[in-house]
Amino acid sequence: MSMQTQAWIFDIKRDCSEDGPGIRTTVFFKGCPLQCQWCQNPEGLPTPHHFHPITEQCAELDNGELIDLQTLLHRVLIDKHFFISSGGGVTVSGGEATLQHDFLHHFLKQLKAEGIHTCLETSGFFNYRRFSEQLLPYLDLIYFDVKIFDDTLSRQFTKQGSSLILQNLKNLSQQSKVTVIPRIPLIPGITTRKDNLVRIAQHLRQLHFSTAVLLPYNPLWQDKLAKLNMHSEYQRKTFMTADELQECQDIFISALNQTSQATNDYHGVQGDHNEQSLPEQPQFPLPKRTREATTQ
Ligand code: SF4
Repeated sequence: MSMQTQAWIFDIKRDCSEDGPGIRTTVFFKGCPLQCQWCQNPEGLPTPHHFHPITEQCAELDNGELIDLQTLLHRVLIDKHFFISSGGGVTVSGGEATLQHDFLHHFLKQLKAEGIHTCLETSGFFNYRRFSEQLLPYLDLIYFDVKIFDDTLSRQFTKQGSSLILQNLKNLSQQSKVTVIPRIPLIPGITTRKDNLVRIAQHLRQLHFSTAVLLPYNPLWQDKLAKLNMHSEYQRKTFMTADELQECQDIFISALNQTSQATNDYHGVQGDHNEQSLPEQPQFPLPKRTREATTQ
């Protein structure tokens, strides 16, 4: 395998406190296989013909910075002391960082050799075999976005189905010891639909997740879109109200609690099922953060 020595990066943010524990630097990799109508980072998206999401690399992207491995390592390791003293580290985000998997493999491997905590923010749309071989061994934490449960609706709003994403989440929950925190971006009228939140909550509970994060909608991406001379069919221009947020949280937690009972019953019948204790009080905080960094 020839080494990919350079990567397309569209931003590097130091001193991030919302992309994982402690003081962090977040590196935003360019390119994403999804085209969410509400993308928070449209400047990180390539045009659709630039890649095949599963089999190919990004290619011929028209903006962003092409950066080599040593330069990127040097730029993030400037803050190594702060990472170590604060329990922080480096977060890789995008776009979808796993698209540039070969470069990312070497980047994460070097960070781990330096003793740096690593976190990935992902849309979950990746080739699992390659991911588990090249990237997973060098990750400490994964923020895994789950947007739309229904495959057809997912294709309608993000141009990709949800099956691969949900399967990858299942694989991680069953096969990996790395901490995975599912996140649900709340997009009014799309991901906030009751049936969507209920089905996601049920899925997470069945996979034994005890923590997830609901990400409140942030409309500021529309300013970026206008500057880029791009257009989206999704037009919501205001933040969510407190009532809207509360309603989403209530739906989500209610579905979890119902599923919790069903799951316990299921365990009672299936004695050889993968036993994992269910918390009495699941944690589903509404975070302070207002930006979906990946994807996110
Ligand atoms: S919101 Fe995230 S997953 Fe969706 S297109 Fe943008 S970067 Fe990709």
